[in-house]
Amino acid sequence: MDNILIDSKPIMTSLDFETVQNVAILGATGTIGIQTLDVMSQHPKRFNVFALTANNNVKSMFALCQQHTPKYAVMLQVQAAKELDAQLKAASISTIVLHGEQALVEIAAHAEVDTVMAAIVGAAGLLPAMAAARSGKRILLANKETLVMAGNLFMRAVEEGGATLLPIDSEHNAIFQVMPNQRAKSLEKMGIKRVLLTASGGPFRNASLDDMRVVTREQALNHPNWVMGPKITIDSATMMNKGLEVIEAHWLFNASADQIDVVVHPQSVIHSMVEYNDGSVLAQLGNPDMRTPIAYGLGFPNRLESGVSSLDLVKIGRLDFLPPDFERFPCLRLAYDALKVGGTAPAILNAVNEIAVEAFLADRIGFMDIPSVIESVMATSVIEEVVSIEQLTKVDTEARQAAKLWLQNHV
Ligand code: NAD
Ligand code: MG
Repeated sequence: MDNILIDSKPIMTSLDFETVQNVAILGATGTIGIQTLDVMSQHPKRFNVFALTANNNVKSMFALCQQHTPKYAVMLQVQAAKELDAQLKAASISTIVLHGEQALVEIAAHAEVDTVMAAIVGAAGLLPAMAAARSGKRILLANKETLVMAGNLFMRAVEEGGATLLPIDSEHNAIFQVMPNQRAKSLEKMGIKRVLLTASGGPFRNASLDDMRVVTREQALNHPNWVMGPKITIDSATMMNKGLEVIEAHWLFNASADQIDVVVHPQSVIHSMVEYNDGSVLAQLGNPDMRTPIAYGLGFPNRLESGVSSLDLVKIGRLDFLPPDFERFPCLRLAYDALKVGGTAPAILNAVNEIAVEAFLADRIGFMDIPSVIESVMATSVIEEVVSIEQLTKVDTEARQAAKLWLQNHV
């Protein structure tokens, strides 16, 4: 935990801050990737776009290479890499194109890279994030699935690799910002009673259970406050996103399940809070715009301009708070359960959720089938201690197979 809960080790010297940082953005064509480039572009003397990676979106990656001329571009798919390479050559852009999972891992650990923005969506982000941790990078972690699947292994790799971990998920970034500067290894030692994760409640905050059974993909993708990739947007609608964030908070802040509470706050202005023993509750506020946590991560311990507009509290007028409804949002309960069970349970939860969200986005299953398949597969899975990434990869594959089978038989 030392490298996020810093005891004495300085994260960056002022000299470091004046040096140009080579940044690798994993998941560059995604919403977090694009917003990271937006913030970096506002500080061209501080950051150099060293490498960009994506799954298969050649058009978007070509445009990014034209604009930022990274040294490397990595596509997961070989065909996409070939197309990108041909287009870059035709345009006389000297970016070197690589492809495949191994190339993602190599870029994350590349000797010339200072900072890695880990913004791949889902379990696919795990191996590159682990590589960045082992090779001692400054990691800006957006990919919460890494911590959900492999929290103990990842935090150990951060510590052993001498990496610096900065949370980018807005809630965890908020908590990080309002924790004491002198970090200790436990919440108790910092005088913290609990952390409060805020949740917008998503598009179905006020919907009845009957309505939620028949909602469409389009309705679920229509998030009231945040613009995000499709997977996390569906996770927000089921509140699995908040569940994954509870598990993420557990690993980042060494907090037990009963030290992490969720409060629904529809305006998404308070990004999360920390309650101290003396009754003080410290919150971080701002407009719901991911460029704030991204700029915080890029600039830490200094503050950078992000391009985010000033918060107009008078215009917002009021801030509301409600308890989470575990009946209409069973995914949140399932995530708390997985955290309490521990071991491979969160990795199974994550894998089945990814399959369920994919099936819902493809119009193959209903919205409330998402928690049903997760609950069923969780109930019939054998839970083990987490010992290795290889084991987790196997557990992940088996859980995905079990989820597909369940969906075939029940939907
Ligand atoms: P997105 O779908 O917009 O982008 C995902 C990126 O990952 C794309 O660049 C895509 O090409 C790449 N990718 C997809 N599958 C891949 C694979 N198998 N291998 C390699 N690359 C792959 O997603 P996003 O909204 O930017 O979210 C990225 C991560 O950040 C997620 O883990 C999400 O939970 C987290 N996050 C996002 C937000 C947000 O506001 N968008 C907020 C907090 C946390
Ligand atoms: Mg979040």
